[in-house]
Amino acid sequence: MNRIARVVILGGGTAGWMTAAALSRCFGRSLRIDLVESDAISTVGVGEATIPTIHWFNELVGLDEAAFVRATQASFKLGIEFVDWRRPGHRYFHPFGRYGVELDQVPFHQHWLKGRADGGQHPLAAFSLATALAEANRFAKPVADPRSILSTLGYAYHFDATLYAGHLRRLAEAAGVIRHEGKVATVERDPESGFVTALATEEGARIEGELFIDCSGFKAMLIGETMDAAFQDWSHWLPCDRAVAAPCARVAETTPYTRSTLRPAGWQWRIPLQHRTGNGYVYASALVSDDEAAATLLRSLDGDPLADPRFLRFKAGFRRESWRGNVVAIGLSSGFLEPLESTSIHLIQSGIAKLITLFPDRDCDPRLARQFNTLFARDMDGIRDFLILHYHATEGHDAPLWRQARAMALPDTLIDKLAHYRRSGRLMLTPDELFREASWLAVLEGQGVSAQGYAPLADTLDPAQNLRQLNDIASIIARAAPMLSRHDAAIGELIRSAR
Ligand code: FAD
Repeated sequence: MNRIARVVILGGGTAGWMTAAALSRCFGRSLRIDLVESDAISTVGVGEATIPTIHWFNELVGLDEAAFVRATQASFKLGIEFVDWRRPGHRYFHPFGRYGVELDQVPFHQHWLKGRADGGQHPLAAFSLATALAEANRFAKPVADPRSILSTLGYAYHFDATLYAGHLRRLAEAAGVIRHEGKVATVERDPESGFVTALATEEGARIEGELFIDCSGFKAMLIGETMDAAFQDWSHWLPCDRAVAAPCARVAETTPYTRSTLRPAGWQWRIPLQHRTGNGYVYASALVSDDEAAATLLRSLDGDPLADPRFLRFKAGFRRESWRGNVVAIGLSSGFLEPLESTSIHLIQSGIAKLITLFPDRDCDPRLARQFNTLFARDMDGIRDFLILHYHATEGHDAPLWRQARAMALPDTLIDKLAHYRRSGRLMLTPDELFREASWLAVLEGQGVSAQGYAPLADTLDPAQNLRQLNDIASIIARAAPMLSRHDAAIGELIRSAR
């Protein structure tokens, strides 16, 4: 019986409590789980926007949606509005869910491209109900019936990350997770295997385990400092290395989307919650001073700031060996890609899912680690390319960051994707890429990377019938959107159902 019986999690940020909640839910009392965190070391606490994969995590840990939305002051998210990205004064929306409907063997976007070649006038956005709802400040949940236009929707949440971690902590502790308050000062290792055997805190506690999950944030105390897993630096592609964040008072209805506005040395987020609005400026510190970045942020808040600006430092990249020996890094300790497409919480849950599937025995078979690391690298490579696309495909911005981004050498994988799309509107994705066709389509077209043709398969479509179908879909969406609930009403209704 070589089974692992004791797991130790270092860190009580979003990653630590998500991991604790998921492992305790999946393994029950067969696993003793200790979590060590220090109140003296603050969490990042700004991960507020998510993507639709959050649903499977919340289901995995058994969260009731209404109770969760109430406890975390959450709002719904239908996608991201990108302001000034393609060029100054331009806006586009990256929606969750799908464009159009499934008509036949020809992908919907090829119907649209063929229609455009035949004189169709509708912009891509006219085929997204999520986009129409976001514009009208309305919200609806997807339904399962494929005949309903509501089946094309997808959604995620904005939430207060600190409240989310607290919510998960209550759940995990109720399931038997033992929390230790203390600052880990020493990491003990087996001299032969190099495996970590115990964490000792400044306060004198010693916590033994067989498997250690590093959720210590950017510090990466176990995977970096102890196991020496190298960090692969991607800042030549994604040069933003700092953020300044400041919440402000909510002054109007909450919007069901994140807003990302391009700034000279980076971009600014706006994330609406029930009790406040989260804001931050992600920037390249080589190109703008902290004071100037904070001033830019504070000048453009909707309401009065609710706290002093808070600065965060980071570097784009990750550890190709996020699992080494008996240490598995989850969260910021494993790497970070800036929050332009709200992917960090997804990466945490994706790491947890992999860990559960590949959960080792006490000897920690290195093949499991290899598999974990290969899958994690694929996640990161795909997200990296998607983010670089946003930076690269812009026009009319003269600040150095944007001139450099337009001229930079792209990863080969992205060069291929762009070439295929430009030529025939083909979206060449591998099965395990996180961002799917609709997302790539939204950002490619939104940022001005237009398809010059369409795939041969679309020649099988009758031009007049295709244009009629496209008109019908656009008008169904235009008629449906104003009939659905206001966003705040939808939140209120859900919360009332919790009571
Ligand atoms: P942290 O929050 O840093 O937690 C680290 C924990 O380790 C703390 O509990 C600390 O006490 C503990 N610790 C460290 N050292 C020790 C020690 N020696 N002893 C004891 N305890 C220790 N993600 C999204 O999905 N959406 C977003 O919109 C988003 N926005 C972001 C914006 C910015 C600017 C940044 C930087 C990140 C953003 N993220 C976002 C990422 C998100 O915030 C993180 O993925 C998430 O908070 C997870 O952090 P963590 O738990 O790994 O680390």
